[in-house]
Amino acid sequence: MSRPRPPAPDPVVSASPEPVAPEPPGLAVPNPAGPTARLVLAGRGRGQRPPRHLADLTMAERRAVVVDLGEPPYRAAQLSRHFFGRFTQQADEMSDLPRASRDRLADTLLPRLLTAEREQSCDAGTTRKTLWRAFDGALIESVLMRYPDRVTMCVSSQAGCGMGCPFCATGQAGLTRNLSAGEIVAQVVAGARLLAAGQVPGGPGRVSNVVFMGMGEPLANYASVVAAVRRLTDPVPEGLGISQRSVTVSTVGLVPAIARLAGEGLSVTLAVSLHAPDDELRDTLVPVNQRWKIDEVLAAAWDYAAATGRRVSIEYALIREVNDQAWRADLLGSLLAGRLAHVNLIPLNPTPGSKWTASRPAVQREFVRRLAAAGVPTTVRDTRGREIDGACGQLAAPARP
Ligand code: SAH
Ligand code: SF4
Repeated sequence: MSRPRPPAPDPVVSASPEPVAPEPPGLAVPNPAGPTARLVLAGRGRGQRPPRHLADLTMAERRAVVVDLGEPPYRAAQLSRHFFGRFTQQADEMSDLPRASRDRLADTLLPRLLTAEREQSCDAGTTRKTLWRAFDGALIESVLMRYPDRVTMCVSSQAGCGMGCPFCATGQAGLTRNLSAGEIVAQVVAGARLLAAGQVPGGPGRVSNVVFMGMGEPLANYASVVAAVRRLTDPVPEGLGISQRSVTVSTVGLVPAIARLAGEGLSVTLAVSLHAPDDELRDTLVPVNQRWKIDEVLAAAWDYAAATGRRVSIEYALIREVNDQAWRADLLGSLLAGRLAHVNLIPLNPTPGSKWTASRPAVQREFVRRLAAAGVPTTVRDTRGREIDGACGQLAAPARP
């Protein structure tokens, strides 16, 4: 079945590599208009910011909101425990809160941010892609992948993407808008809820890993992504309690933002989508390379590795007769040899209308062999979710599900 065209990009948002869409709310101060006004505003759709959610806020900010409602400050932790510990935002499931305040607290700090429009699964139910509709109709996708030893949630950081990589389905539709921290976290909490309830084959479980490899360029939505990483990794009730080392932020190579991330004191894994070892080819495969060249991107990556002690993951989608030549493997090997890095080769996943395809198996094997000969650790990523268009680069929420 051919997919309908994705929604057109918002004309007020350019495709520049800068963080262009409005950042989500400055959240330090409780909404002076009150929760009811907030909900009315939220219903108006485009151009409005997502409703404020406790996942947008630090615990101190949540306390301030709760006190503003006339409640004792400890209600902030109670409410947070429901969301981050029990994965619920249903007021009627919060029996430790006085009946009279439950609805008001939940309406104010736990508004519904995402509504599941469609679920698709494969691999006997252990790979599940969800299409979500946000308050303004923006569509995004997340993918849950259960392996024997871990569960990885692949999340979107933006609706669409402005970076325009020609081999990526998300890139073809342009950027609609940035997601709020709450909208990013909500994708993971939804997966956690399913797992806790035993609704994913393999018995009850938890989300162990989060990868920012869904729709969007995470570092073009910097503030929300860093806030989301903190909420995902802070212990319950502040956050979800996932290990920082189990979170991967994948970027196309926004150099100033990589440098900023290195200074956050987070030990998340950085993945750099390189896809070519020479600027001539990378300028076409990853258009933002016209702004920041390979040597600058890699220098920022090595600084990140030095600051965090984390091995950088170099992502390289192998595209038949485009970037899979032996000399490019050798050049890549020479760029990475001796660095705190490993290469993650991704057999190109098909996207609608693209003339490109994955490399031949023998060519892929030779590429791996040459990297290994240069002493560069290399893995080939599995193509989980391909049959439901849930693999890397295939996420492109349709206009109508
Ligand atoms: N915007 C970020 C993260 C989302 S894309 C980035 O580009 O890094 C996640 C990964 O999927 C990136 O490494 C991206 O290059 C890769 N990708 C995109 N389209 C793909 C495709 N058709 N086949 C294989 N990988 C693809
Ligand atoms: Fe955006 Fe990443 Fe796709 Fe490029 S590969 S268009 S940066 S989502």
